[in-house]
Amino acid sequence: MKIDFVYSIYNEISEYVTMITHPKDYSFLRSVVWNPLFILKGCINRKKNLIRAKKSWKPIESDVSKAFRNLNLKLKEEVITCYVHNTGCEGGFNVDSNRIHVRISRVNEGEFLGAVIHELVHLATTKKGQDYTEGENITDSYLAKKPLSDILKRIGDRPQSKL
Ligand SMILES: [Zn+2]
Repeated sequence: MKIDFVYSIYNEISEYVTMITHPKDYSFLRSVVWNPLFILKGCINRKKNLIRAKKSWKPIESDVSKAFRNLNLKLKEEVITCYVHNTGCEGGFNVDSNRIHVRISRVNEGEFLGAVIHELVHLATTKKGQDYTEGENITDSYLAKKPLSDILKRIGDRPQSKL
């Protein structure tokens, strides 16, 4: 497993437009950044943020790969693209494009890495026809299993449901 962290102003803006045109879809999430100034902030800090993302992920990459193998969690491809964004929800995933996105603003490193792992589990476990709650429950149950739970403890994040 390799994560390719990327930044895209196009993605950031299109997600933002989706969010402000569908605010109800975001109202139940535990943490949402609505302030459009974070788009600007994220664009200015894009290089710094990508370095931050890569630097924090690298030390746990092989442990997460091993944990996925142990738990028989299979990703469709060896390299997963992760968009790093600054507004909106904490993270998301797209099974069709085999990509995830994770917000880097206003979160500490442990929360960021926890969100990356959370979205990767979604990517590996989501089945057609599954609803939101079911998907979160399945993801949480994997995050509570060793060795994934040990990694989350080590990086300072807890299994979380509302991403
Ligand atoms: Zn989730």
